[in-house]
Amino acid sequence: MLLNNQEVKDALFNCSKINETTGCIEWFRCLDSYGYGRKNYKGVIWPAHRLSYEVSIGPIGELCVCHKCDNPKCINPEHLFLGTKKDNNLDCIKKDRHMHSLLSEQVHAIRADTRGREAIAKDYNINPRNVSYIKNGKLWGHLESPLVFMHKQGKCFGALNGSTKLTEDDVKAIRKSKREQVILSRQYGVHPSTIMAIKRHKTWKHITEEGVSS
Ligand SMILES: [Zn+2]
Repeated sequence: MLLNNQEVKDALFNCSKINETTGCIEWFRCLDSYGYGRKNYKGVIWPAHRLSYEVSIGPIGELCVCHKCDNPKCINPEHLFLGTKKDNNLDCIKKDRHMHSLLSEQVHAIRADTRGREAIAKDYNINPRNVSYIKNGKLWGHLESPLVFMHKQGKCFGALNGSTKLTEDDVKAIRKSKREQVILSRQYGVHPSTIMAIKRHKTWKHITEEGVSS
């Protein structure tokens, strides 16, 4: 889609205000679950910071737009830079050093906490975005698996190493699914490595796309 740069800039300007302390230009309209601004431009929903980069600096292509300031609401083009998906993940995890010192009890407490993520982040001195990542299992995903938990409690079931608890239908569904390994691992209550082994046909080799091979 062709963007009318001036029109977009005006729209972005009208939905954001400058933070005099940090120089961040903060989006105050609709935010997504990761705290990024969302802008509807001619029927297409854009992450506001990506739109800002695109009209102020240039085309993004397949790359990620990362924040130098680590403020997802910020759309100040001077605070943005291009990176790969890997850079982006490393960037947001690296910047949050406190993340690594969280105890598993704290991770469980964060997941059970029903307050807004800003309030939670403040209590634990971590980035609000990482509160979301903890809650949806993108970070500390290994603590999410009920089997790992049972394993710690001394109740080790076969499914942790093999796939004894899964049915053939589960295996077919897992192979077909495009969901992330961690999510599938939670869904089926098995270790993420079990999911990977199934997807790579290292286990359950006798199950094929069509059904059970003879
Ligand atoms: Zn900023």
